[in-house]
Formats: sequence, structure tokens, C-alpha cells
Amino acid sequence: MAQTDNKKFFENLSGAGKAIAVLTSGGDAQGMNAAVRAVVRMGIYVGAKVYFVHEGYQGMVDGGDNIKEATWESVSSMLQMGGTVIGSARCKDFRMHEGRLKAAHNLVQRGITNLCVIGGDGSLTGANLFRKEWSGLLAELVQQGLIDEEASQKYSALHIVGMVGSIDNDFSILAWICKKPMIGMVFALDGEMMLPTVKQDAVFCLSVCASDWVLIPEMPPEDGWEEKMCQKLSALVVQRLGFDTRVTILGHVQRGGTPSAFDRILASRMGVEAVLALLETTANTPACVVSLCGNQSVRLPLMECVQMTQQVQKAMDEKRFEEAVQLRGRSFENNLKTYKLLAHRKPESELPNSNFNVAVLNVGAPAAGMNAAVRSAVRVGISEGHKMFAVSDGFEGFYKGQIKEIKWADVGGWTGQGGSLLGTKRTLPAKHIDKIAEQMQKYNINALLVIGGFEAFLGIMELLAARSSYEEFCIPLCMLPATISNNVPGTNLSIGADTALNAIVETCDRIKQSASGTKHRVFIIETMGGYCGYLASVGGLAAGADAAYIFEEPFDIRELQSNVEHLTEKMKTSIQRGLVLRNENSNENYTTDFIYQLYSEEGKGVFDCRKNVLGHMQQGGAPSPFDRNFGTKIAAKAMQWISKKLNESYRKGMKDNSYAFHVVMKQTFLKLSIELNHHLTFFLTCAVVHEALSICHLVKA
Ligand code: ADP
Repeated sequence: MAQTDNKKFFENLSGAGKAIAVLTSGGDAQGMNAAVRAVVRMGIYVGAKVYFVHEGYQGMVDGGDNIKEATWESVSSMLQMGGTVIGSARCKDFRMHEGRLKAAHNLVQRGITNLCVIGGDGSLTGANLFRKEWSGLLAELVQQGLIDEEASQKYSALHIVGMVGSIDNDFSILAWICKKPMIGMVFALDGEMMLPTVKQDAVFCLSVCASDWVLIPEMPPEDGWEEKMCQKLSALVVQRLGFDTRVTILGHVQRGGTPSAFDRILASRMGVEAVLALLETTANTPACVVSLCGNQSVRLPLMECVQMTQQVQKAMDEKRFEEAVQLRGRSFENNLKTYKLLAHRKPESELPNSNFNVAVLNVGAPAAGMNAAVRSAVRVGISEGHKMFAVSDGFEGFYKGQIKEIKWADVGGWTGQGGSLLGTKRTLPAKHIDKIAEQMQKYNINALLVIGGFEAFLGIMELLAARSSYEEFCIPLCMLPATISNNVPGTNLSIGADTALNAIVETCDRIKQSASGTKHRVFIIETMGGYCGYLASVGGLAAGADAAYIFEEPFDIRELQSNVEHLTEKMKTSIQRGLVLRNENSNENYTTDFIYQLYSEEGKGVFDCRKNVLGHMQQGGAPSPFDRNFGTKIAAKAMQWISKKLNESYRKGMKDNSYAFHVVMKQTFLKLSIELNHHLTFFLTCAVVHEALSICHLVKA
């Protein structure tokens, strides 16, 4: 159970005396279970009663055993399951006044006036209607003698919070449900053709799968498209390569499967936020939808979101397609723009000629998604008229002259490949700065894009320091954070971190499953991440860990003791397995072996322990859909920034040492001053982790 010292995060909030019901409705989607689990545990944590409503609105209408009080243990081991454990249904009755009257009666009988609805736009529209009708429904129930006046006064307001759970992602809000099996399918189909038709996902898949064609409602093809597509396919695929073509309809594979780490985290955070929103609601607060914007939970007015979705449909019905794309939201629009930019190469004659040369290199350890970023940078650069140069093996290859021009076709198929195809090394540039400057001059490099982790950041710092002696570095310098450790100063998310998280979470799932026949077992798992606790804490959140030990949050023997006691208590409940994550550098003396031995000794007779050091498996593997998309999008942004700076300098006609160094973050640019020091680095890393941690400790398995 949650420990009392964690109360500090939400000390002013109390759910005492409140009852919250949670239901999943409409089509099921991955991540729904994580959201239900978070609502239940957060609700119980703040002292509220939480009820499951089984089978969506049907369960609310039918009542009886369909509405059951939830316990902390009842949501154990739910995180990794696909679909929805509490059941979902489409319900005709709820569309009728009579059905909603029965539902209201069932809720009032249990004192439930807080409703958390996880579903798509239909479900949320229904929820909003229910809320609007609530006082009328209660008056009717009084009239019919089903409830008394006192109950009608006591439960006079119904509070609603929505969470979008839909594979269509059609609710004008970002939701990453379903991408994983879909991507799996697309790559299983490698070389064949696919025509996905689910709106947002199709667009998302474009940028991650690098497909040739897409047909979506918001962007109907121009007249004569059939002819063009056949020409392209027969030239490309059938005649030249001798490939056969197949049509595959993805159908329900898009709904199945275990949720990705991102879906679990998203859903967990949304669940926590939903409970907070319910606790803070007053009679006059409009119903809201909980969503994530960047790294922050946000609340949006429910009805505006529903109306926006309806407007999209209307715009499409009236063939106002450009408006439909805009109404779908920025993320949808960006995905579509990036796809259009990268999928089709303009003929040479139509390309602008900028006369600028831009070099790209990877620095540090490989991170999944680096190749997608390089592909995107190269293609956007070429589209903008630059000559693109690839540097092999980071700054080491740079000083050794391993530089060559890289063309559009050279990066074909790079999106889905793990590791670094350019080659990456940790070597820093300062020692070889004169040789690097020489190469810069030799190839007349006008801008540099460095894709990598902490070493990439330090490397750029060294280049900046060299500006006073070498004019070659007075050019736009840009870095994209790419590291599994997610520890690049000033950024909140790195390319590769999501893939690593998924590797950790999948392994934790397997490890937990390995003990399904064994009771009373605790697993101690060591993660990578250097001094950054991101992987251990956020991985812990997604895998459902009991504790996460990280460097940023010092722990002592008392904390270890309290964790062992927590596990001892837990073994008395129906949950008889525990999971503890430890970041590799969390403490030099409390090593993984030490913690394993301590838990083994203290748990004697109650539980036994196993330990696992995950090691380099966290670094390898094919990039996750998220990392492919993220790498593609931020590299496109980076190149656009570089082009803008180059064009400005062209007009000024000089090299300029006042160029800001830019770290490209998630869709925004962050200016960093050269004075950034380790203290700030540490502080920023902590800030990233802190928020995740507050939830990690709360939503304990
Ligand atoms: P989704 O929530 O995934 O969009 P549906 O559109 O099928 O799925 O809606 C799920 C359920 O929500 C419906 O079966 C119905 O019970 C309820 N619902 C949908 N729209 C309304 C509405 N306008 N009024 C009342 N209930 C609705």
C-alpha cells in the first residue's frame, strides 16, 4: 500500500466520503487497464471509495453485480493486459432516457456522484448528456418514489471526467493506443503494400513506416490517383523488383496485444489526473477530458473536444478537407506534413539549390531512432536544396576525414533499423579540434547536426568554446537528444528512451510471468541510465514496480527497511509477487547485490528473491513506433531551423559567432547558453524525473 510519507505529494487532497465509479466504454483499446488501475489506486489513496462498472454503460443501466467496489489488490497485474479487464460494451439502452434513468438510480443507491469514463467520442458525448440530465433524472426518481428527497439533495451534482481511450485517436487529442501491433504488422509486411484506413493511425504510421501511399478520409486522393499509383507501383514494385503485391486489412490486430510502455504511462498519468480533477470539481466546473500535452497532464473542456470532433466529421462531409486536417490537431497535421515531405522526392529540376553543405553525425552510445532521425534530416535537407554529408563514427570519424555526401536513396529503409547506421563513438572533439576544423574547411561545411546523448552535448560545448579560435565553428550548430538515458540537459525527452523503456517493461512482464506458478517472490532488477533515474523510475511506473531506487532521490537504510516491510505486508494479500527496480548508479554502496542480499535475508520465511541485471539489451533492438516518429519529426524541425539560420546568414553574408546553439526538444526549440554547467544539468535531470516519481511511488503494484 502507499506509504504515509508519500502523502506530501497530495497532502491537501482528500477523497473521504466520495464515491467514484470508473467504466470503459465503446471499442476497447490498449492502455485502458492502466487507466482503470490508476483511477482505482489514486482514488483509494486519497480515501475515496472506488467502484468498477463492468461492461460500460450497460453495467450502469443493469446495476446489480455489474457495479462493484474495487480494492487495491483487485487491479494488481492489470498493467500488462490488453483490452479492458472490466469489460466494455456498446449500449443501446443508455441512448434512451429510460436507460439513463435506471443508470442514475443505480449510482444514487451507491452514493456515486463521480464518474470516470474511458472511451471514445461517443461514450464521452453520452457522459455529457447524462450529466446535463442528472438533476432532471433525480427529480423523476423522487417522483417515482425510487429515491427520497434527501438523497436527491445529497447527490444533486454529478461530476464527470473523461479519458480518451480509442484506437482511432479521433478525439482531437493525442493518444498512442494501438500503434504497436500495427507497426509490428507493417514490418511483417515489409516490401508489400498496405492500405491502412484508420485516420490518425494511418498518418502516424506514415512517418514511422515510410509507406508510399496513404488513403485517409481527411486527404482524399486527387482525380486520376488510381492511374498514378498503378504506374508507380508497376514501375517500382512489380516490374523492376519483381515483387508480388498483396492487400492486407489490419482489422482487429490493431486492437490486440499488450500495451506499450508509453500507453501505460500515458494512461496511468491520465488516471491520476482524472481523480485529481474529480476531487477539485465544484458544481459549476464543466466536465473535462484529461489528456497529456508534452510532458504535462492537462484538462480540456469535454464538450469543446466533442464539438471539435463533430466539426471534423462535418468538414469532411462537406469536403472541406484542409480544415478537417487542421481540426484534427497539431500532432495530426505535423505527422501529415512530415510524411509528405519525406515520402516523395521532388525531381532534381524542382529542388531549390541553396549552395549550403550540412553535415550530420551520431555521437555517444547508439539509441534506437537515431537512424530515423538521420533519414529525416538528410531528406529534409535535400528537399531544401542543401548538400548533405554523413560523418561516420562521430567526432572520431570527423577528424579522420570519414565524411561523404549522402543522398536521398542512401537512407531508404533506415526508419525501422536499430543502432546507428552512420556509426557512433563517444570521442569528444576538443583534442582533435584543429583536424576537425580542417575537415570542416575541406568540405565547406556550413552547418552541423549532432544526434546523440550527453557526449553530443559536451561535444557541442567544446565546439562552441573553439569558436574564438576557429571561424569554422561559427555556423549553426544543432543537436538532437538521442540516448536511452534521457539525460540531455534542457530536454525532457530523448530519442531512444521509449524503446529502452519498452525493453525494460517487456522484460519485467516476462520475469513476473515466469513466477506465475511461484508465490511469494520479489525480483530485483537493475536498469541502465547512468546517473539519470528516468529508466528506473518511469520503467517502474510502466511495469508496476514496488520501488525504484535512483541517484536523484537519495535513499538510506530506513527507506530500504520500509520497502521490505511493504513487501512483507503485500505477501499477505492476494498479490504475492514484488518488483524492485534499481538504477545502476543509484548508490555506490547499496549495490544491486547488496539490495538483493538484504531483501533475501529480511524476507526469509516470507518471500524469496531473484535478481536480474538487464544490461545492454536496453540499448539494442528495433526502435519503437514512438521513437521512429519522434526521431523523424524532431530531425525535420532541426533541419528547418538550420535552413532558416543558413538563409539568414546568407543574407548577412558572413559567418557569425553569435549563432545560438540549439537543442531540439519535443517540437520546441530551447535556447541554451554556453554557461550551462553540471549543476544545472543535474537540476534539469531531477526535474524530469521528479514528476514521474511522484506517480511511481503512488501507483505501486
Ligand atoms: P466510442 O465511445 O468508442 O466512440 P460508441 O460511439 O459506440 O463508441 O459509443 C459507446 C457508447 O456510448 C454507446 O454504445 C452508447 O451507450 C453511448 N453513447 C454514444 N453516443 C451517445 C449519445 N449521443 N447519447 C447517449 N449515449 C451515447
